[in-house]
Amino acid sequence: MATATIIDGKHYAARLRVGIATQVARLKAEHGITPGLAVVLVGEDPASQVYVRNKGSQTREVGMNSFEHRLPATATQAELLARVAELNRNPAVNGILVQLPLPKQIDPEAVIEAIAVRKDVDGFHPLNAGLLAVGGTGMVPCTPLGCLMLLKDRIGSLAGLRAVVLGRSNIVGKPMAALLLREHCTVTIAHSRTRDLADECRRADVLVAAVGKARMVKGDWIKPGATVIDVGINRVPTPDGKGRLVGDVDFESAVEVAGAITPVPGGVGPMTIACLLLNTLTAACRQHGIPAPEVRPSA
Ligand code: NDP
Repeated sequence: MATATIIDGKHYAARLRVGIATQVARLKAEHGITPGLAVVLVGEDPASQVYVRNKGSQTREVGMNSFEHRLPATATQAELLARVAELNRNPAVNGILVQLPLPKQIDPEAVIEAIAVRKDVDGFHPLNAGLLAVGGTGMVPCTPLGCLMLLKDRIGSLAGLRAVVLGRSNIVGKPMAALLLREHCTVTIAHSRTRDLADECRRADVLVAAVGKARMVKGDWIKPGATVIDVGINRVPTPDGKGRLVGDVDFESAVEVAGAITPVPGGVGPMTIACLLLNTLTAACRQHGIPAPEVRPSA
């Protein structure tokens, strides 16, 4: 039976970071500008701590400044908003990311809306979401941007392809669908109320799964030869008690049917941070009135 090509997001992200580092060095040499990314972590969520640590080290590796702000789990919304306002005013900070999820006393929407639109490197601000919807040049959310890069690297032009996006969240599903539409795909967004999900998926030349349900998409949901992008990150138990990460796609059956597929881990995940760095570089250039460079992954 045919076996899909594995789309190596880890390798692509590493090449992209080299391309970003080259442009950061050029920005420093030609304009004396070092892009800066501030990451704010509220509380002690273990997964968030790992993400924030990784973001910090990768930011420094590409030659940018990394600013880490930690607030206790008991921080009030007013305290967090005050910190965001401070970062909005700080000219050394070009990008601001507030790590989600936030403790329950804080309204994430209020925080997202408080981030200066030009520094919103997560692309979650409603104005950036609106710009994406109308085809403007705002900040594009990192995970969908990373998925699109992997797709274009694999397929080239996406024009005319039938794309199905599984999931309609504001951070993945909706912006992913908007990006695919911008690339001239015929896009279907499926969700928990969709009738006959498997049937919808089977029509897709490009299938992006972002539902947060371990191995939900089976091999027989996939059109033979389709390109499958698995955004899901789900921890499932293992006999040794440590657990392991799996995607929203049942990789073992899907790999027999798809033309190409991203693994979990090592697919979309590494692209998310690389795209965050890319957005920070873009934001820094725009804030200084410099055209954002076209970043190419290294060979
Ligand atoms: P959300 O929980 O916000 O959204 C999940 C979406 O999936 C919703 O639209 C929901 O539908 C839909 N859904 C849930 N269950 C079903 C079902 N049984 N059938 C059909 N649709 C369903 O999740 P996110 O978008 O934030 O994240 C999705 C996944 O991607 C998660 O595993 C998350 O960990 C991962 N992720 C990975 C990232 C990375 O860097 N690789 C970054 C961000 C997320 P409805 O709207 O109807 O409720």
